[in-house]
Amino acid sequence: MPVERTNESIVIVGAGLAGATAARTLRGEGFAGRISLIGAEKHHPYLRPPLSKEYLLGKAGEDAVPVAPDDWYTENDVDLRLGTQATGIDPGSHRVRLSSGDSLDYSALLLTPGALPRNLRLPGSGLDGVTTFRTLDDCRRLRDTLSPGGKNVVMIGSGWIGMELAAAATSYGNRVTLLGLEDIPLAAAIGPELGAFFRSLHEAQGVRFRLGATAAELGGESGQVTSVVTGSGEVLPADVVVIAVGVAPDVALAEASGLALDNGILTDAGLRTSKPDIFAAGDAANALHPFTGQHHRSEHWSNALNGGKIAAKSMLGQDAVLDTIPYFYTDQYDVSMEYSGFPTLAAGAEPVIRGSLESKEFIAFWQHEGRVVAGMNVNVPRTQKAIKALISSRAAVRPGRLADAGLALDQLLADD
Ligand SMILES: Cc1cc2nc3c(=O)[nH]c(=O)nc-3n(C[C@H](O)[C@H](O)[C@H](O)COP(=O)(O)OP(=O)(O)OC[C@H]3O[C@@H](n4cnc5c(N)ncnc54)[C@H](O)[C@@H]3O)c2cc1C
Repeated sequence: MPVERTNESIVIVGAGLAGATAARTLRGEGFAGRISLIGAEKHHPYLRPPLSKEYLLGKAGEDAVPVAPDDWYTENDVDLRLGTQATGIDPGSHRVRLSSGDSLDYSALLLTPGALPRNLRLPGSGLDGVTTFRTLDDCRRLRDTLSPGGKNVVMIGSGWIGMELAAAATSYGNRVTLLGLEDIPLAAAIGPELGAFFRSLHEAQGVRFRLGATAAELGGESGQVTSVVTGSGEVLPADVVVIAVGVAPDVALAEASGLALDNGILTDAGLRTSKPDIFAAGDAANALHPFTGQHHRSEHWSNALNGGKIAAKSMLGQDAVLDTIPYFYTDQYDVSMEYSGFPTLAAGAEPVIRGSLESKEFIAFWQHEGRVVAGMNVNVPRTQKAIKALISSRAAVRPGRLADAGLALDQLLADD
């Protein structure tokens, strides 16, 4: 149904996946009013997942990265302002101030500022060769540094990004040491057995782990990093240090505008914030999920994509809710993994394994009160739809049936 409303204007702050998807959805839904998309970075909206995978590895070119072709924005009359920061919001007068000195009135405002990489204020963290990793520019710099190979690379942080970057650095023939606070990498996310599975993938490629370990300081010569000193005093040689210790939702603007915050910008299931006509989506939003009745903040691609679509529909007054099952994926060496479900509900549960870890082809299920709440398929493609259906059904499934590879996943739902 076309939505003319030509006298209305929508401002979107944050030109990443969530913001650009919202703009595309607005035009797709027939909104004919003004759309301003404000982006602090100088690049057209782009996808981040390839930055730590195929684009970093040189296996994919520039066309793997954009959310939409560059000319889509002009062709669809979207006022895209790159290299421009939104510096203030006045919710009362419905106005946004920009770093350019302009200000924009809005009938609806969407905040999609994403997340910022956490940094470590260590002695030496300002040395050349030390970086966090979030942007296309970070990726291009790191690719230039890693691609010749032969360097000592220390990855601080053994989460998904640290592990993906370790895989890429190793593939280029660099010597990688991965430093992690946990005794087993990823154990908090997927448990010790599966965390050990990912560690063994890396060890087989020569990655060295220092676990249960902290970085105490970074050493250098002539302004360039040369080592990482651990909390136990071990000196690890380093030409490159990547600090990959997670991200924090970027709530600076929302906080200054008086929006309700709790681990991000709080929203209802329709992505409305605590202030009238202001919405939030993507990494920065902590949205009420109808499936659990709890707020969930997700730092994943599918949440930004789906959140952008739902926020656009909500801004148009449609009865839309973000109720998709959370999803993310990772690629490391010869392993492609997809995870669907609710990590908070799965936390602490023993996974049920269908297949074998040794063959690197399996599905892990997590249950809560007899119901499947999360599933992770490793090198078993085209199963995430069935896993999501299993989660959505809330059906109780006996663990023996989940583990029985002779039963098709859709049969589990039909017969149990
Ligand atoms: C290296 C990397 C690899 C990843 N891999 C995966 C993966 O394999 N699978 C997966 O599911 N997810 C992955 N993710 C996560 C996924 O990319 C994010 O969840 C997604 O990018 C979030 O989109 P967003 O639009 O909310 O925020 P962002 O992509 O962070 O975009 C927000 C934008 O808003 C801008 N901004 C902030 N404040 C302002 C302001 N005041 N004014 C103007 N602009 C502003 C920021 O500069 C930024 O460009 C990865 C992330 C990274 C960094």
